[in-house]
Amino acid sequence: MPVPTPSEYAKILDVAKEQKYALPAINVSSIATANAALAAFAETGSDGIIQFSIGAGKFASGSAVGDAVLGAVSLAQHVHLMAEKLDVYVALHTDHCQAAELDFVRSLLKKSKERLDGGLAPLFSGHMFDGSALALEENMELALPLLKECGELGIVLEVEAGAVGGEEEGAATTTDKTKLYTTTEDMLYVAEKLFSVPARLMFAATFGNVHGIYKPGNVELKPEILKDGQAAVHEKYGKTFDLVFHGGSGTPVEQIQETLDYGIVKMNVDTATQYSFSLPIAEHMHEHYEKVIQADGDGSKKLYDPRAYLKKGEQGMKERVIQASTELRSLGKTIYKK
Ligand SMILES: [Zn+2]
Repeated sequence: MPVPTPSEYAKILDVAKEQKYALPAINVSSIATANAALAAFAETGSDGIIQFSIGAGKFASGSAVGDAVLGAVSLAQHVHLMAEKLDVYVALHTDHCQAAELDFVRSLLKKSKERLDGGLAPLFSGHMFDGSALALEENMELALPLLKECGELGIVLEVEAGAVGGEEEGAATTTDKTKLYTTTEDMLYVAEKLFSVPARLMFAATFGNVHGIYKPGNVELKPEILKDGQAAVHEKYGKTFDLVFHGGSGTPVEQIQETLDYGIVKMNVDTATQYSFSLPIAEHMHEHYEKVIQADGDGSKKLYDPRAYLKKGEQGMKERVIQASTELRSLGKTIYKK
């Protein structure tokens, strides 16, 4: 089976939250990297998430077309086709989309609507709207109609308040250190604005996280921010947020696992898996340099055929995804029944 239907995905998230584990959300930008994540989930019987940024969509569409929406559709269709062969659930999300780029999400919602009209599951399980650069009021004003629209299609919307530090797609996201920490008041405000909508919401509340592997001492992760915020939200609304952990690539495993107790159900993994895909390829090139560049016209087709090294990249990344599932305690916990 496959990419889960909306009700199956809701169940996956409910079980994860109840049993205090999270699904790794692996950022991919090509068939080869998508296959690495699929292989990791399939081999270990773990449910997981594959997601694409706008830049990944654009890359996947190729230099001749350069269309982020078409590239995202292409990658999503690949995952739908391949996941069908597996005995785990693989949900599909899109990553950071700022206010000025929301046509990306809207175009993909249209694709999902067309599929639903034809009796199929939506193309994506979830989308992210990143309004963290805006004032929280404006952020929620934009999030509200989008959440309603997603809810009507059974699609999850992920929102963000506060700001994840570091770099996202090459752009620095914040230099204001106080913004790295979402306050309890912010979490209550998001709940007040969005809890009444009949839709599945995910919330990337920030607690010092930084995109890209950060240097120790640069920032301080404070997972207790999530604990306090969730407690206040629970007291007022009788429920808590499904939280998302961004920028966790350099985080010690104890700190990752602490956040699972506070409602983290999805953790984005990008930097670490990029590195684990590229490292074996660097080693391949280093080891077989002469044969790849054909010094003296004496190359080896077996070594410069892209499959020779992309296979190694896939293997390296697969192992890193398995590590992520292990750290997030979702390893082997698929709820898919044959
Ligand atoms: Zn992020």
